[in-house]
Amino acid sequence: MHSPFLPSIAEQLFRDIQKIYKETSQIPDEMLIALKFVYGPCALQALDLVDQRSVTCVSSPSGRRAFQVTGGSGRIYTCFVSCHFCPCPAFAYTVLRRNDGLLCKHLLAVYLSQAMGVAQQEAVSDREMSTLLSGTAF
Ligand SMILES: [Zn+2]
Repeated sequence: MHSPFLPSIAEQLFRDIQKIYKETSQIPDEMLIALKFVYGPCALQALDLVDQRSVTCVSSPSGRRAFQVTGGSGRIYTCFVSCHFCPCPAFAYTVLRRNDGLLCKHLLAVYLSQAMGVAQQEAVSDREMSTLLSGTAF
């Protein structure tokens, strides 16, 4: 997993989590602290989303992928890891406008579920994927 949008320390953290979670099915305390250090308060919220299995990886036959994250309010956000985008207000405000955060809790939950291998998988047709992509509210 490589993202041009994340600093290497953040990527390394995901790689470490991936490795250790595979072996122990747990994230050790020091990595939780590192997550909080790198991502601030949204780290714990993202872990909650992961624990609640709120992340679904949606893929279509043509190979397109998107992630759907069910937020605390029950709203579903469609996130795109490939372009590092989430349509939620926090992403727009913190990441895009103020440029003082790397990502929102939804995108972080997506990265974490991928690293931990716990994202739900859902296959859709190419047509459904197009609807999903065009239905994203900006
Ligand atoms: Zn978001």
